[in-house]
Amino acid sequence: MGWEKQAALNEAVARDLNEDIEAAHEEAGHEGYVPMLCECGRADCEHVVPMTLEEYEGVREDPRRFALAPEHLVVEIERVVEDEGRFLVVEKRPGIPAAVAEEEDPRHTDD
Ligand SMILES: [Zn+2]
Repeated sequence: MGWEKQAALNEAVARDLNEDIEAAHEEAGHEGYVPMLCECGRADCEHVVPMTLEEYEGVREDPRRFALAPEHLVVEIERVVEDEGRFLVVEKRPGIPAAVAEEEDPRHTDD
């Protein structure tokens, strides 16, 4: 497996965890910042990114977009579409990174 695909899969795992975090906070009626996991491609990343649920929903509207800690950008597989200061919103580059992001999206399944 190429490193690009591995990084993309790592990001998909972080996104799955964030879906659970978001659901838990939504149920609790949480307001303000929620500690979301950095969705970068590093297998060992445990960085927490403070985001509101509204901000996270904005990222999740596009299956190729992820939220990262600003210092965790990997320019080979993604480009910045928004810089919020606390976090970056990035979009996967076309090809393997975008294809894996779309395949692994729990909200967009073909079958
Ligand atoms: Zn990270």
